[in-house]
Amino acid sequence: MSDGRFQGVLERVTAAGTVLILRGNTSDVFLGPDGAPSRLPHVLAKHAALEGRATVVFSVGHGTRQLTPPGRPAAPLHLPNADAPPAQAIQHLLGQLDTSPVPVQLVLDYADLSVLPAHGATTPDTSSVIELVADFALDPANTASGHRLVLLARVGTMDERLGRLPGFTTIDLGLPGRHERLQLIERLLSPASGVPLHLAPGMTAAQLAATSGGLTLDDLFRGRDETVATGGIDAAWVQDRKSARLRQLVGDSLIVYERGRGLADVAGLPQLRLLVREVRQTGQTPRRILLAGPPGVGKTLVVTALADELGIPAVALGSFRSMWVGESERNLRRVLDAVLALAPCVLHIDEIDQSVGQRTSGQSADGGTSERILADLWGFLGDNTHTERVTVVATTNRPELLDPAMFDRFTIVPVLHPVPAESAQIMRIAAAREGRELAEEGALHAVESYGELVTGRVLVDVAERAAVLAHLDSSPTIIGPTHLMQAFDDLLMALDPLRHEALALKAIELCTFRSFLPWNAARSLGEEPHLPAYLRPLLNAGGDVDANLLRARLRQLTGGDER
Ligand code: ADP
Repeated sequence: MSDGRFQGVLERVTAAGTVLILRGNTSDVFLGPDGAPSRLPHVLAKHAALEGRATVVFSVGHGTRQLTPPGRPAAPLHLPNADAPPAQAIQHLLGQLDTSPVPVQLVLDYADLSVLPAHGATTPDTSSVIELVADFALDPANTASGHRLVLLARVGTMDERLGRLPGFTTIDLGLPGRHERLQLIERLLSPASGVPLHLAPGMTAAQLAATSGGLTLDDLFRGRDETVATGGIDAAWVQDRKSARLRQLVGDSLIVYERGRGLADVAGLPQLRLLVREVRQTGQTPRRILLAGPPGVGKTLVVTALADELGIPAVALGSFRSMWVGESERNLRRVLDAVLALAPCVLHIDEIDQSVGQRTSGQSADGGTSERILADLWGFLGDNTHTERVTVVATTNRPELLDPAMFDRFTIVPVLHPVPAESAQIMRIAAAREGRELAEEGALHAVESYGELVTGRVLVDVAERAAVLAHLDSSPTIIGPTHLMQAFDDLLMALDPLRHEALALKAIELCTFRSFLPWNAARSLGEEPHLPAYLRPLLNAGGDVDANLLRARLRQLTGGDER
């Protein structure tokens, strides 16, 4: 028994119109009702035979061949020469159908790559194929005789407009479900013939089936072959394969982050450490977090560190916007489906103010694309069945540009400039990465003499510069305080302090919970709290930041124009 992918598709094939477009996971192996694996053209041929149709397959590489299962009448067609151009071959085949006494299923394999490429230059040849196929769908004689045309897209992008023609049905072949994966895994564990699948110690068939969501059945075959020498499939193989599969499925639209070392490489940021502690204590992962703060202070770093701490992979939304009408939305949906297949995971939406869309009044300039993308994303974010398993972490330097509706959907956590002790730590971590030693006490002195508004990114640059200066000073592995002072002195690229103060104040203003203000979080963790100097004039009698004073200062800094 399969879990319905095979049956479901075939039922839809039966009910479909005269021309069928199959796309999505078309290159995978499919399990028949008896559990036996076969490829899609064979599955289609077997199914067609049950409905009394003969099958002929055309592909540009292989020409035309009969695919009717043995014991059934083959299509009584004269097959074109193997080197005939597609339009000619297809016309030759279609032209014989009205005299064929046997209903025929003609499968055009790799139609997306060779016969009807999406967005490819329409050559006279592809134009005639489109016309031939469209005419075929419109001719009632074909429907009456039971003939059918199947276009197999192998990479999932055929000209979308084709699917809108009358008589056309598009079916997306999805990834196998857990039950189907389990069925194959059990079959491979004790095969009637061939190499058996091995599972690493501690991995069971049920576990592999549960954790391999997002993989194709082909991937499992591959896992069997790739792990012969290494003792069998383990969790790391599954994770790596999933990453590779995702890259292939959605390309640049999704970035799979490398696994890191967790919070060990992050200095300071007590608010994030508090968050991780709370997750550990309650077992509950926050679903939607917006990290707001100036650029270069470690927001991206935190996304991967958080995923590492939670023991789940992190991916980022990449470039899914396209110039083709409707394609951005489709890309986004494909990416979100891929993210779900990878769950549980952390989904990073970087610079959410730019990547998804800004506050707009009415229709945006892109014909409503931004609005639709936003609506899709809201749908995804608002769907609690998904978001239990996908932790969305958005980051922004400019939260004031965001649609206000965004604020309600996220827990906003400010990420601010490092305080001096954290700055010293960041430089030590950066030096250690390069195999160098840097004493934090000396670094603290150098940082304090430089001033407070500095970012992690600049500090990493300074540490690298200091390493060069140390090397010139015959100290290749140890960076001393004087090298750091020299490097700071050498630093021309100063941050605009007022702009950075404004960016930080805005993030503080939008912070959802008081506990996530860094100095409060430090206190909860039993650490020394450190209040940034620019906040001191904005405190009330109780020592808290006064919201009115903060807003007044923000207005002063931005001249009332926060955008
Ligand atoms: P953002 O996403 O806020 O623009 P990033 O996360 O890209 O900033 O930070 C840039 C670099 O600065 C990081 O790759 C890291 O090397 C360094 N860095 C920033 N903040 C920290 C921190 N708190 N601890 C360690 N390194 C940091």
